[in-house]
Amino acid sequence: NSPTAELQALDAAHHMHPFTHGQELGAKGARVITRAEGCWLTDSDGNRILDAMAGLWCVNVGYGRKELAEVAARQMQELPFYNTFFQTTHVPALNLAAKLAELAPGDLNHVFFAGSGSEANDTNLRMVRTYWAEKGQPQRDVIISRWNAYHGSSVGSGSLGGMKGIHMQGGLPIPGVHHIDQPNWWSEGGYSTPEAFGLERARALEAAILEIGPDRVAAFIAEPVQGAGGVIVPPETYWPEVQKIVDKYGILLIADEVICGFGRTGEWFGSQTMGIRPDIMTVAKGLSSGYIPIGGSIVSDEVASVIGNTEFNHGYTYSGHPVACAVALENLRIIEEEGLVEKVRDDTGVYLRERFESLTDHPMVGEAKIVGMMGSIALTPQKETRAPFKAEAGTVGFKVRERCFANNLIMRHVGDRMIISPPLVISREEIDTLIERAWQSLDEGYAAVKA
Ligand code: PLP
Repeated sequence: NSPTAELQALDAAHHMHPFTHGQELGAKGARVITRAEGCWLTDSDGNRILDAMAGLWCVNVGYGRKELAEVAARQMQELPFYNTFFQTTHVPALNLAAKLAELAPGDLNHVFFAGSGSEANDTNLRMVRTYWAEKGQPQRDVIISRWNAYHGSSVGSGSLGGMKGIHMQGGLPIPGVHHIDQPNWWSEGGYSTPEAFGLERARALEAAILEIGPDRVAAFIAEPVQGAGGVIVPPETYWPEVQKIVDKYGILLIADEVICGFGRTGEWFGSQTMGIRPDIMTVAKGLSSGYIPIGGSIVSDEVASVIGNTEFNHGYTYSGHPVACAVALENLRIIEEEGLVEKVRDDTGVYLRERFESLTDHPMVGEAKIVGMMGSIALTPQKETRAPFKAEAGTVGFKVRERCFANNLIMRHVGDRMIISPPLVISREEIDTLIERAWQSLDEGYAAVKA
């Protein structure tokens, strides 16, 4: 047996993979990733794979950053753990909170740390309900979110999300979460213009508020650009209208920036790209470039001051973990010093956009949408009518993803959409490689479907 086969057998025998069909995995064996540098992974057979997903949308500064490893080692020796419960604090947590307050827009000046995006969204759920209870309106406990959103995998964040596959397990969502439709013009709005459709889907929020009762609604949560739902870039009319509606009814706006934050959309935060003013932002992933688990909620002066009037009975052992905070701070320094946000907005991000949009010349690609460095293409057998494939939804996307994998390119599929979200340090040459391999994989996937 090769070393790879041995590792795969051990993995199949003992390791349960998230979001993976166990039998499919057992039959094929998982690809064993052993090292990574820049935008490139290496597997146990020595193949080099271009990672166009930055891991799980998170390795913004690329792999192999020694500075981050060194900071972690130093912090582990100095203060490997202490909490910030009750009345203690430590330097990495307070410095990171201050840095996030500086980077975040408006008066988002206060940070509640968590270990992940899911945990941070659980914090948000409890924080907005506590906020309204403290304001004397405890009946304001409904949170509106969107179908096909992804806000995490815990019971609370999985409820906020709108993934039916997650809801099916264990009877989610929990009470008090109400879902509305997403602004996916290409798949759902063909009868209308993008502008009119954007307004229509924004006004679904107002309709939901009126149906539930404006004095019952605590918050609206959404990703500035929906990520795991398929990189759904909203029409330009969508967010301004949503902002008007939440302002009109005095409802808190939670922007889930777990994917969009830290340069991904060409600004520090997706809220800035979309021109919205959230009361709370969820962050994780790119906050540490995935080098260490950390998440958090960045909160406005108003929300923080109301929450500060009570004991907020909530927190995690790893809230503000000193090693995670030190690594995140160093990661933010790298993003700033290397001008990665500007790179996405004005330089390689612009090149990626041109090259990515050229994929619409492929016979199977109906739409290519990209904001900064998160993009998706919609696959269709018939561009004009946007008809779905005869095969069950997702079959073709899965095939193309398999072909990408075989061609040493990591692209993800969501149904019949293919997604990219590469490290922000990707070069022009690597972008060319990405597009060439994507094109080849589309050709091969198309051939396999037609066969
Ligand atoms: N929110 C968004 C928008 C995400 O994309 C994710 C993860 O993909 C999460 C929340 C959950 O974050 P985590 O996996 O760190 O719990």
